[in-house]
Amino acid sequence: MDKNLKIAIIGGGPAGLSAAMYLEKKGYDNYVVFEKSDHVGGKCHSPHYNGKRYEMGAIMGVPSYHAVHDIELFAGVQHDGPALKHAYKKANGKRDYQFDPKHIIHIPHLLKVKSQVKKFGELLETKYKGYDVTGHIGVANGHYDGFACTPEREHISGDNPNLKDLSMPFDDFLKKNNLPLVKEVWVQPFTSFGYGYFDEIPTGYVLKYLDFTTTLQFVGGQIWTWKDGTQSIYEALNNKLKHAATLNSDITKIVRKDNKVYITVNGKEEVFDKLIVTAPLQYFPEYADCSDEEKTLFSKIDYERYDTEACIIEKDKYPDQSYYVMENMEPQNLGHVMIYYHRWFNEPDQPIINYVLRHRKGGEELNYDQCCANTIDDMKKLGCPVREENGKPMIINKGKWYYFPHVYSEDYAAGWYDKVEAMQGKNSTFYAGEIMSFGDMDETVEFSHDLVERYF
Ligand SMILES: Cc1cc2nc3c(=O)[nH]c(=O)nc-3n(C[C@H](O)[C@H](O)[C@H](O)COP(=O)(O)OP(=O)(O)OC[C@H]3O[C@@H](n4cnc5c(N)ncnc54)[C@H](O)[C@@H]3O)c2cc1C
Repeated sequence: MDKNLKIAIIGGGPAGLSAAMYLEKKGYDNYVVFEKSDHVGGKCHSPHYNGKRYEMGAIMGVPSYHAVHDIELFAGVQHDGPALKHAYKKANGKRDYQFDPKHIIHIPHLLKVKSQVKKFGELLETKYKGYDVTGHIGVANGHYDGFACTPEREHISGDNPNLKDLSMPFDDFLKKNNLPLVKEVWVQPFTSFGYGYFDEIPTGYVLKYLDFTTTLQFVGGQIWTWKDGTQSIYEALNNKLKHAATLNSDITKIVRKDNKVYITVNGKEEVFDKLIVTAPLQYFPEYADCSDEEKTLFSKIDYERYDTEACIIEKDKYPDQSYYVMENMEPQNLGHVMIYYHRWFNEPDQPIINYVLRHRKGGEELNYDQCCANTIDDMKKLGCPVREENGKPMIINKGKWYYFPHVYSEDYAAGWYDKVEAMQGKNSTFYAGEIMSFGDMDETVEFSHDLVERYF
């Protein structure tokens, strides 16, 4: 492709900024990143409080985040944040020792879990070979095609009819393979991190994010965090790019015709040769001249309602580490705190962040304000009561996120991804961002890498 092409990128989150980085690396530097808000980073959002930064959005990575590491090297950033320790509590606040091998009573069960996890690892390498490449191209038809999840990230492709199983909800997949206990390990960095329940989410998503290596690194505590927050990765990247993102860009219209893309932004029309959309595709038809096929496919997307709340805890009740509440990861406890995140050791004036899911497939969406009230109650039960100031709880920030866009099993199995991938490049338009792979920092950045390698 002509290196002077004028390229518009919509969205200044990890996907959009990394698309610009990978384009630059290939010699394309005639691009503009349009960001709707007044800051970059998207869901990597790290506000300031009392001289430090806390996390309202993304928190962590692990050593298998090879694509995020590309950005670290490009932008001169290091994962220099506080260590992340966690333990377990019951919803009534008592410590939960079900994963603690020092509690002898749990050992027989833990050994069974360990044995199933080992078998699962073997199965993924054999029966499900190719399960962990970037994106979902071909999966519904039993193919794989993308970058391997290895430090070398070699491009691999091949046929494996068993991959069709990845369209099943993860619960069914584990049942089919007779490994139900694997769920106990995978659920922790999945449901509590807002990615939904295993009876509704296709296995393809679960395993793109939680491939075997990544999961073992998560549970083994090989966690990366950033002192100035995950947002600082993307701020540094934005500063390093030849063209920083154009903030406060209000795109009201996109027309694609005669191999050109006409974008009306802040009331003025600009003309481009190519368009990369990393903003939610679900809402793309609201401002773009979408075809019927685009409209139909994008209308299948659903997302998780995942809320975060930053609260200041009573001084003498400030926790010593982060806690998971396993029973609140069950669907019947929707709307209750599944995890609370302790970022700064022994800093009781820094916020603790709690995490709640508010919706599940086919069910009603719980009321946001009601959930906020629940969390204050939950934190009290969990032994971390929210501090009061002038008779009001000290909730210093609330996040109501458009989280983890995905499609469900029927559409996954019917080749949703192959249909969208077949549209790549048509009408001068490319699709990237969370929906195309998975809603975490590494998969979104890796997908932008893959897209640039395939088409530019
Ligand atoms: C609470 C929470 C915890 C998380 N924890 C982790 C974690 O620990 N580790 C991890 O890897 N990931 C985590 N994530 C997920 C991670 O943040 C996202 O997957 C990642 O940010 C997605 O990148 P993106 O660029 O595709 O989308 P986003 O980050 O959503 O960025 C999209 C950008 O597009 C902009 N935009 C939207 N519409 C328009 C438009 N019409 N015009 C112009 N711009 C537009 C938005 O303002 C935004 O800046 C977490 C997210 C949240 C919310």
